[in-house]
Amino acid sequence: MKATVRFVGSGDSFGSGGRFQTCILVDAGGTRFAIDFGTSSLIALNQQSIEHNSIDAVLLTHLHGDHCGGVPFMLMDAMLGARRSRPLIIAGPRDTRARMGAIAEALFPGSEVMVPKFPLDYVEMETGRANAVGPLRVTPYAAKHTWQTNPTFLRVEVGDKVIAYTGDGEWTDEMAKMGKDADLVIAECYYYEKPIKWHLNYPVLVERLKDFGAKRVILTHMSREMLPHAAAVPEECAHDGLVVEV
Ligand SMILES: [Zn+2]
Ligand SMILES: [Zn+2]
Repeated sequence: MKATVRFVGSGDSFGSGGRFQTCILVDAGGTRFAIDFGTSSLIALNQQSIEHNSIDAVLLTHLHGDHCGGVPFMLMDAMLGARRSRPLIIAGPRDTRARMGAIAEALFPGSEVMVPKFPLDYVEMETGRANAVGPLRVTPYAAKHTWQTNPTFLRVEVGDKVIAYTGDGEWTDEMAKMGKDADLVIAECYYYEKPIKWHLNYPVLVERLKDFGAKRVILTHMSREMLPHAAAVPEECAHDGLVVEV
């Protein structure tokens, strides 16, 4: 079985390099899911001619806007112009459902009266064990990142493939569990030189690459300080629209 992974958005929170916020789209085993869905992700999908109604599940690493803020926009369009009828699963850390409601209420006051006409399920995943999300098995690990975001990194099993993503967070030994024998580890690489709390940066990644134990590693979520080095470093780096098969 092959898995096709598209970096719909490979940017940081702030549009560095003109890049869209995090959204990684995976097609495998007859299902299509997105890992993270930042505030700009609907724009990115439209620019890449991808219909968001085709997504079966959205998996969220944590509750920062550049990773989850697009979900209420997607849900609103699904209920209005896009007229979704297929089921959708939104899976994320503890409190995902309430936070999506709070974002919708803040940005679209009055929208709480809208009721989806399609089956919509929320799955708030437990850390440290495999959670069933449709046909996927998703294991979140607690991440060392802004604690108010209920941060996790994710190991996703789909058919016989394993795709893992660090989300945002400092190196912890559990990242090695997340990446062990994975077909692909997607790792944030926020800064090139500057040590930064609650994120991975390039020197740490280089030191830890082997610890991931993955068949392939791709770097993403690069800041304006890291981006100028992306073409020069030997590691594989994402860009918006990059498609890889694993
Ligand atoms: Zn981020
Ligand atoms: Zn974050």
